[in-house]
Amino acid sequence: MAQRYLIRTYGCQMNEHDSERIAGLLEGDGMVPAEGTDDADVIVLNTCCIRENADNKLYGTLGYLKSLKDDRPDLQIVVGGCLAQKDRELIQERAGHVDVVFGTHNVHRAAELMAEAREHGPILEILEETAADYLASFPTALPAKRDLPYASWVTIQIGCDNNCAFCIVPAVRGPEISRPFGELVAEVERLAAAGVLEVTLLGQNVNSYGRDLTTRLRTIDAGPADTYEAGEAWAIDERRRPRPLFADLLRAVGSIDGIERVRYTSPHPKDLRPETIAAMAETVAVCEHLHLPLQSGSDRILAAMHRGYTAARYLERLDAAVAGVPDLAVSTDIIVGFPGETEDDFEATLEVAAAAEYDYAYTFQYSPRPGTEAADMVDRYVDPATTNDRYERLRTVVERSARAKHQARIGRRERVVVEGPSKRDPSVTSGRTRQNKLVHFTAPQPLKPGTQADVVVVDAAAHYLMGEFREVVAVPRYRTHIPVTAAGVETPAPH
Ligand code: SF4
Repeated sequence: MAQRYLIRTYGCQMNEHDSERIAGLLEGDGMVPAEGTDDADVIVLNTCCIRENADNKLYGTLGYLKSLKDDRPDLQIVVGGCLAQKDRELIQERAGHVDVVFGTHNVHRAAELMAEAREHGPILEILEETAADYLASFPTALPAKRDLPYASWVTIQIGCDNNCAFCIVPAVRGPEISRPFGELVAEVERLAAAGVLEVTLLGQNVNSYGRDLTTRLRTIDAGPADTYEAGEAWAIDERRRPRPLFADLLRAVGSIDGIERVRYTSPHPKDLRPETIAAMAETVAVCEHLHLPLQSGSDRILAAMHRGYTAARYLERLDAAVAGVPDLAVSTDIIVGFPGETEDDFEATLEVAAAAEYDYAYTFQYSPRPGTEAADMVDRYVDPATTNDRYERLRTVVERSARAKHQARIGRRERVVVEGPSKRDPSVTSGRTRQNKLVHFTAPQPLKPGTQADVVVVDAAAHYLMGEFREVVAVPRYRTHIPVTAAGVETPAPH
């Protein structure tokens, strides 16, 4: 009988994407998904150290899994991801029943490490940096098993060169490395050929995509490899502009036949360039949605966070994007209660949030991540009651603009891509607009995920719209199983 696996994912889209790749690798080895912990032969915890109390939650889960392993010694327990990269041997010291620990630079080795552990006993493999064969470590260069068959994430860069005081990503994911332009275009072409209509370009700081590629390429003569590495628009430009490769990438990916929606996350406000806004406006497939993390509206706190922009500069760039891209939806991330945040600082955040008129926002109460600069600012921690109060006040402001933005859409005919039955009520169908708005509606017949349908918006809440079905405009083209293999990745021409 085929072995069964279960993957629990914590954290961000990058981790969810890594988990899809791990699932793809395990299914490539003949495994099938388990229903739950009881019928799983392998349990993988793909950890994240960005979320609050990540370590407590991990060790709590591992404690529960120990009793399962005591009953079934063949059960394999695997821990990967950011927290594994950070805690390393501590994991097996605190939880001796863990069979495999791997980090963020060797996701592609997950299945091999599990096989080795079955033969030789527990393994810990954490790489300090992305290996020379780094292409293999990009999650999208590995086989994938996707939750939504018509949509795919495409990792365009890994790591981050910034040093935001609250963030552990640079420490656990390393410096920025961009995937070659030609490889990304080839990958999206393969996805489109297999029926994928929507791609989301993923990176910690997508607007600095290509900085490492062009820094290297500027020192050499132009050659055919430049087009592969950095795209034709960059290679043929005699001025050898330093960037914006990301805008070039948006245009290239958005012009691939069959790709109807291109999304990306996340751009850093300090790197959002006019060329990116122009590429969004001029490339039909690029969706009218910008997720632009604010984090704080206080210049004093932004400086303490090392964000590299002021509130005025943020709003200037946001205004340029809103003016440049018609019907643009805007979302953000905001932290309240960062160490040293005063009432005046917080009110500045409220003012920026009100001025930005967000469609939605991910708001967080600050909590320290061990190993970050902000975690050491203990003497400036804001007390939890104050943080909680500010969080609620911010939520009220964001929900006000979200509701108003949604209500303004009532009466409009919107094109949605169907995600499937609503989680709350399976008789209701859910889909997303280009602005990433969730729309619930009743369809006359079951619609497959990936179906494009027109609905008229009839009601609105802060977090979703209600629609009335009008017509199906396109049915999905994907096959049930879409293989994406590293074998299809082209190698660059030699310099
Ligand atoms: S830009 Fe800042 S918040 Fe984003 S991943 Fe890099 S260090 Fe973290």
